[in-house]
Amino acid sequence: MIKFLDLKRLNAQYHEEFKNQFERFLNSGTYILGDQVISFEKEYANYCGTKHCIGVSSGLDALQLIFEAYKILGFLKKGDEIIVPANTYIATVLAITNTGFKPVLVEPDITSFNINPNEILKAITLKTKAILGVHLYGQLYNVEALEVISKKHNLLLIEDVAQAQGAMNIDGRKAGNISHVAAFSFYPTKNLGALGDAGAVTTNNEELANVIYKLRNYGRESSYINHVKGFNCRLDEIQAAFLRVKLKDLDIANKKRKEIAKQYLKELNSSNIILPKYSNIEQHVFHLFVIRSKRRDELKNYLNKKGVETLIHYPIPIHKQSAYKEFNKLSLPITEQLHGEVLSLPLHQLLTDDEIKMIIENVLAFK
Ligand SMILES: *Cc1c(COP(=O)(O)O)cnc(C)c1O
Repeated sequence: MIKFLDLKRLNAQYHEEFKNQFERFLNSGTYILGDQVISFEKEYANYCGTKHCIGVSSGLDALQLIFEAYKILGFLKKGDEIIVPANTYIATVLAITNTGFKPVLVEPDITSFNINPNEILKAITLKTKAILGVHLYGQLYNVEALEVISKKHNLLLIEDVAQAQGAMNIDGRKAGNISHVAAFSFYPTKNLGALGDAGAVTTNNEELANVIYKLRNYGRESSYINHVKGFNCRLDEIQAAFLRVKLKDLDIANKKRKEIAKQYLKELNSSNIILPKYSNIEQHVFHLFVIRSKRRDELKNYLNKKGVETLIHYPIPIHKQSAYKEFNKLSLPITEQLHGEVLSLPLHQLLTDDEIKMIIENVLAFK
């Protein structure tokens, strides 16, 4: 069986380095917000090209801290409308509702899977205060269009980079540095994955960064001096130590992912599937390789029988979840169509040539 993603195999490469990092961590005697977190924050800010990186406990927490910080700074208030793609992982939308804002779900472009800028324009009202964009499946959203819209309509632009660590815009700016502030997840399956929960916020805005530094740690300015009502959302010291090891290889891993994606794009010619189309493949780090098929469930079962594990990202649209009853009556036909057609093929940097060949052969054999 070719697993969709083999985390044990991915992390086995770093066995010795992880052990060394654990020894260092153990002997340091500082297990919360120590040298490893400080070093990771410096290295990751440097990697993204931003002035600041704040290590936090998860991608969801990164997004929530951003929204809480904007409330404290007076840029956002409860009830403000936040534009967000209707097809994303539910955490993106949870961050909006958990912090007291109203998500306005916007349809994607069916070929790129990313939020459709024309649909954003239609969704803007006097209450709209921000756009939370997602670089879905590893591909940057339409960077230029979203920047223009956010400037013209005076909206905050926030990036959810959970799926696109290392993606680069044509002008050389990296994901995490093409908005006012960005949230990262380092959940184990992401392109840069920890061995547990972890996340980060990147920004060039010093005032915002300072509030988020405090918010992640009970709102404290220094020991027992609290400036704001905060949370416990710190990046774990040992996860920072592991992430530093893997960050060194992120670009190499992303390059390998792209090579496999190019091979899929070249060789997967079949009338039973629709391949993804990209305006610029260089803006993609292939967190996922997502094809579409009218017979998606049949194809998935077929591949499973042939020993190829696939996943669906995602099977149920957010507005159809019982957690979001208030949106159940919305009609978002493109989002709904995509949820019925998408299928993610295995794609990671350690897939062997034989495995890639077997995946391609089996997709082509489905009649
Ligand atoms: C994974 C993911 C998140 C949530 O990250 P966690 O670290 O699991 O909280 C948010 N948004 C998107 C698009 C994701 O893929």
